[in-house]
Amino acid sequence: MTTDTGTEAHTVLSPEEVFAVLGDQARFEILQALGKADGQVGYSDLFERIEYDDRSNFSYHLDKLVGHFVAKVGGGYALRRPGERVLEAIHSGAVTTDPVRELTRTDRPCPFCSAPIEVGYEQERVAMHCPECQGLFRGEDFEDDRFTETGNLGFRPLPPAAVDGRTVGEIHDVSKAWTALTMHAASRGICPRCSGRVDYSVVVCDSHDASGGTCDTCGNRFEAKASVTCTNCTFDIRSGVAGYLLTRPEVMAFLIDNGVDPIAAEDFHPYAAAKETILSDSPFEARYMFTVDEDTLTVTVDDDLSVVDITREETTEGSC
Ligand SMILES: [Zn+2]
Ligand SMILES: [Zn+2]
Ligand SMILES: [Zn+2]
Repeated sequence: MTTDTGTEAHTVLSPEEVFAVLGDQARFEILQALGKADGQVGYSDLFERIEYDDRSNFSYHLDKLVGHFVAKVGGGYALRRPGERVLEAIHSGAVTTDPVRELTRTDRPCPFCSAPIEVGYEQERVAMHCPECQGLFRGEDFEDDRFTETGNLGFRPLPPAAVDGRTVGEIHDVSKAWTALTMHAASRGICPRCSGRVDYSVVVCDSHDASGGTCDTCGNRFEAKASVTCTNCTFDIRSGVAGYLLTRPEVMAFLIDNGVDPIAAEDFHPYAAAKETILSDSPFEARYMFTVDEDTLTVTVDDDLSVVDITREETTEGSC
C-alpha cells in the first residue's frame, strides 16, 4: 500500500505490513543511519553509511521504507515520525532486552517503618520490598521467593534502558519520577503510551481492615484502588487514590510549599502521608488528608477522581 509521489506522500500500513516491511536487517540499518543523521541524507551518502555492498538491493529496501517510515524530501531522505517511534521502542530496550536485577538491599527507607528497603528489576518493572514490615500490599506475582510473603512496597513499570549503568537505588529513584510523569498524563485523560483517551474506575474494599498493616480481604494498606485504562492501547495502571492525587495542582502546590518535590521526592510517600476516609462506596466519594510536618491538605474526590472539595490548614507561620 503506497502512494509515494516523491515528496510528502505517506502510506498507512496495517500491523502485518509493518512487520513485513521492518523484517530485514538492511532496512533496520537504514532507519538507524537516518536516526543518527542530523537532517536529511542523500542517496549515495545513505548507501555508504550502512556499508551495504549491493546498490540495487539497497534501492529496493529503501523503497520499502519510503512512505510510512521514511520521507523523500528535496535531495535526500529523512525519518518520518513512525520511523522515529520504531527506533525509540528499540532503544528503550522494550522490544529487544529483558534485564533482571535481583532484590538488593539499598539505603532507601521504607515509608512505613523506615527500614532499608530492597529493590529489584524484572519484567520491565521495579519491585520494592520491605524486609521488616507488612509493606503496602500483599502480592505474589514477582519471580522472587521473598514476594510470596508480606512486605511488598509495589511495582513501577520502567523501560529496560533505565537499568543500564544505574545502581538499584538509582533505579528506584528513576522509577519514582518515571511513574509520576506517567500518572500526570493519565490523570489528564491522556494515555502516556499512545496519547489515546483513558477511562477511570475506582474499586473499594467491602470489609477493609488494615489495622495490622495490610488488609486480609483486599491485601492492600489503602482501601480504594484507582485504575486508569487506555481505550486504544494496552496501557493500564493501578494505584491507591492518594498516589493518583499527587498529580492534582492543589496537591502539588501544597507539597512544593512544604519543600517536597511532587515528581521525585526522596522521603515522601503518598500512602504514608495521606489518611484515607471513604465517605461513600457507591457512588464513590472519599477524603484524603495529606500531612507534611505541621501542614495538612484535605482533598475530597468523587467516582471519576475529580476533586470536589479541598481544604488547607497551615499551622505554621505563613510566608509572604
Ligand atoms: Zn517497612
Ligand atoms: Zn481491604
Ligand atoms: Zn494508549
